[in-house]
Amino acid sequence: MNCCFCSLNQRAKLVIFTVNHNIIKKKIFNNPKKIEKTGRGDHGNLYLCLVMAGVYVHIPFCASRCSYCDFFSTLRLAEAGAEYVEALVTEARLRRGELRGATVKTLYLGGGTPSQLPVELLERLVEGLSAVLDLTTLEEFTIEANPDDVTPAWCAALPRLGVNRVSMGVQSFEDPILRLIGRRHTARQAVEAVANLRTAGIDNISIDLIFGLPGQTLSSWTDSVRQAIALHPQHISAYGLTYEEGTRLWHQREGGEVVEVPEEQCLEMYRILVDELQAAGYEHYEISNFALSGYYSRHNSSYWDDTPYLGLGAAAHSYDGVLRRYNPHDLRQYIDKIMAGEVACEQEELTRRDRYDERVMLGLRTARGVDAERLRQDFGEQAWCYFTREAEKHIAAGNLRLIDGGRYVLTRDGIMLSDAVIRDLMWDE
Ligand code: SF4
Repeated sequence: MNCCFCSLNQRAKLVIFTVNHNIIKKKIFNNPKKIEKTGRGDHGNLYLCLVMAGVYVHIPFCASRCSYCDFFSTLRLAEAGAEYVEALVTEARLRRGELRGATVKTLYLGGGTPSQLPVELLERLVEGLSAVLDLTTLEEFTIEANPDDVTPAWCAALPRLGVNRVSMGVQSFEDPILRLIGRRHTARQAVEAVANLRTAGIDNISIDLIFGLPGQTLSSWTDSVRQAIALHPQHISAYGLTYEEGTRLWHQREGGEVVEVPEEQCLEMYRILVDELQAAGYEHYEISNFALSGYYSRHNSSYWDDTPYLGLGAAAHSYDGVLRRYNPHDLRQYIDKIMAGEVACEQEELTRRDRYDERVMLGLRTARGVDAERLRQDFGEQAWCYFTREAEKHIAAGNLRLIDGGRYVLTRDGIMLSDAVIRDLMWDE
């Protein structure tokens, strides 16, 4: 997923997608009481079974700020870019032990705007990471990009760096809306960017879209979805706009300068999205994600299926199956700590209940659903009984269905009510 809602890694809220999952988001992720300052955890046994891992690298630089964005990013690339890249490489060296020998299958440069990094710094980053991590086993190497950065020269550098997937924040094909939300590119630049990538041999392209943008209508949204499909990207992600408090767009709404699209219309936009993409042959493999056969995002899938990952850079998160670690949201603090040889994370140890809740919430977002038998094995009879009992009610109501003899998945109606369904299935003592 792309910079607009940046990578799943940067903020846990990003696993939340469309219209209003804030309650669940808060329930699961905003639990500061468990966060403590730390060095590293030690869960040796856990790692015995690790066979693969993802590495996420956060590039927090942007050329300007989009009006809806409350992510951690900075405009200080010229001043701090080079030392930040050195800090990333140093952090990889300091923390590579956390991978415990797991094979690194995916590398994801998210942001911010990774395509803002000058090619020389990108080269230095890849060279530095390769020197301290075994990247020879990579299956997917994604970089996020904004269309205005995707020039022929930039694209030409990607294959030699090993990048084989580009995720691009297009958001809309309506120029007035793009201007309103502070995007720097035009619809035409997005089209040209895809062509530039193809010319350079990048044939795994993902496009991000946003629905519920101010001024967007059902017909203009349909048009944006169709224009995206016409570019034949292998992957499309689409997210509902949220007005994050304190952003420029939030202030505009509060001041009456922009009008929020009603929730029912956002749901209709989501239905249009699903219908159009499925008719065009895209598999709806996660609530917000669609792909042609064989092109699921491997890296993002690791967030949904409980695969451990190492997050490097300011504001990046890591997860080892039990511990979630958080790097500081402060560029200077991050660089100074790392260059002093200190690992800069805070960490939270997930309880069994937390892990059950995450398993249920993340699993239900995907087309694979939640495997009840695995739930029983990992969380015990009581959790299994609770889950299956609550799930039965939603099967009867048409919100869930059982597939492959034991996997619970949301129906189309259930997706529209996913907040409520997921909330009901979370651990309730
Ligand atoms: S490009 Fe815009 S949306 Fe993406 S991180 Fe920067 S400010 Fe946020």
